[in-house]
Amino acid sequence: MGKPEEDIKDTTEAADAAPTAGVNFIRKLIEEDIQAGRFGGRVHTRFPPEPNGYLHIGHVRAIWMDFGAAEEFGGKCNLRFDDTNPLKEEQEYIDAIMDDIRWLGYDWEDRLFFASDYFDQLYEWAVQLIKAGKAYVDHLSAEEIREYRGTLTEPGRESPYRNRSVEENLDLFERMKNGEFQEGACVLRAKIDMASPNLNLRDPVMYRILHAEHHRTGDRWCIYPTYDWAHGQSDSIEGITHSLCSLEFADHRPLYDWFLEQLGVYAPRQIEFGRLNVSYTLMSKRRLRRLVEEGYVNGWDDPRMTTLSGLRRRGYTPEAVKAFVERTSVSRTNVTAEFEFLEHCLREDLNQRAPRVMAVLQPLRVVITNYPEGQVEALEAVNNPEDESAGTRTVPFSRVLYIEQDDFMEDPPKKFYRLAPGREVRLRYGYFIRCEDVVKDDQGSVVELRCTYDPETRGGYAPDGRRVKATLHWVSAGHALEVEVRLYDQLFTKENPDDVGEGEEFTDYVNPDSLHVLERCYIEPSVAGAAPGARYQFERLGYFCVDPDSTADKLVFNRAVTLRDTWAKVQAQQG
Ligand code: ATP
Ligand code: MG
Repeated sequence: MGKPEEDIKDTTEAADAAPTAGVNFIRKLIEEDIQAGRFGGRVHTRFPPEPNGYLHIGHVRAIWMDFGAAEEFGGKCNLRFDDTNPLKEEQEYIDAIMDDIRWLGYDWEDRLFFASDYFDQLYEWAVQLIKAGKAYVDHLSAEEIREYRGTLTEPGRESPYRNRSVEENLDLFERMKNGEFQEGACVLRAKIDMASPNLNLRDPVMYRILHAEHHRTGDRWCIYPTYDWAHGQSDSIEGITHSLCSLEFADHRPLYDWFLEQLGVYAPRQIEFGRLNVSYTLMSKRRLRRLVEEGYVNGWDDPRMTTLSGLRRRGYTPEAVKAFVERTSVSRTNVTAEFEFLEHCLREDLNQRAPRVMAVLQPLRVVITNYPEGQVEALEAVNNPEDESAGTRTVPFSRVLYIEQDDFMEDPPKKFYRLAPGREVRLRYGYFIRCEDVVKDDQGSVVELRCTYDPETRGGYAPDGRRVKATLHWVSAGHALEVEVRLYDQLFTKENPDDVGEGEEFTDYVNPDSLHVLERCYIEPSVAGAAPGARYQFERLGYFCVDPDSTADKLVFNRAVTLRDTWAKVQAQQG
């Protein structure tokens, strides 16, 4: 009795999303309506989430269409919670959904509504339909109703209770409302056409009995409208002009129209668009909720989740998320965009605005043997080469440094240009150093490099013109802050985790190796006191964001995305 989730898969075509100009067919249709004077030229949309989970990136397509269309045409957009199912809905979700929409930069002003605000009106309208002989109380069980419904190739059968008198129906419906029946004892159904080729018109259920506490109406009601019965009427009450929704509601449109016509009330125009999916993840609150409840992730805002709160914690900006959605073409086909494209959009944005810093994730100690003990120099470093106004800062240089373990190889293969015994490299913003000696522990692991530096190469260039083939990032051991860094991989090992074989579940494809915690990393002291949510580029390593788990003693960083742009590479190859 919820929403038509089962239809989603059937209409999905595996089309790769290609970035296109911001134009989409829905905006065109709205424009035509305005020009034709339909709805008096008004544009009034709504975003209607069910508060049964957190928003995910797929929702941003709907939010962007609804709020975006209102913005573009000088109209209004309501936020309406479709809270018709008291069993799955919670205040936590309502709060989170509002936070996420605000984070995206959209504003519903004073137009926050709940389908539950309309329960009285919906009840009256149901009585109106009963009186018109268009609805009846049915005592068939849920299973029998399914059985009687028929299939796509076979017509349904009429319920033996279908032809009750109006008086009997009115009486039974009132008693349903008064709590005289057990859950499942009966339902109210619309009386339409059991032979309709559209299954949604085969006497759909309008009310079911649920002896459950509702988060807003408490125990006032024990009958609750189905989504199908509530949705179109809610749009009508709010004077919505363009009811934009995803494709699976297309087959419900005739039903919504039927209800509004029978009631003789204002009807909006419904336009459907394809859903947006992203590879290697899932776009269903129900499934995301299972990941949370069954402990596959550490909550709805786990940085591996493609919920908005997860992406935000990971380091995504609203601009990057919106750019991704805007550049993913909208049509009447469901599309699956590549996760790499989402990452590409984030990189593009952070490249412009994230300050650069140096951090070492897997430290290898380097002692500059000819650098005076106790001496410290402040080297000037550029904050953002893409943004001159970001200015410069200084980083301390001293005798003992850390570099990245994998920037050194004792026995380097041909194409390895970084540090090796006897080889010289550049330290970013610093000097040339040469590896003179390698110190190992009892197990034979390299624990320290003894190097010399050339004081003439300050700033990274040798006056004699000699060149080096690599520039390494580094931090001064005595000045760096110890921090924790969390690296992430895809949450699923399968491109479409929904596409599973017989007897399998999407949870079978959860990547057991999607989180790597590095507890002892070092970062330059300039980031001291960074607030949760602050984003940086760690030179050569990617973009990182300060996690709310950070304490006064230890910062925690999430890697939002690496620097390697796999998506841009693919595009370049394809020409
Ligand atoms: P989910 O299956 O994730 O719970 P839903 O459709 O049940 O999704 P709602 O809370 O009803 O979620 O979402 C509100 C609006 O967002 C609906 O109009 C729905 O069409 C739209 N929407 C949800 N997911 C997507 C998506 N992946 N792409 C585009 N629009 C979406
Ligand atoms: Mg749903």
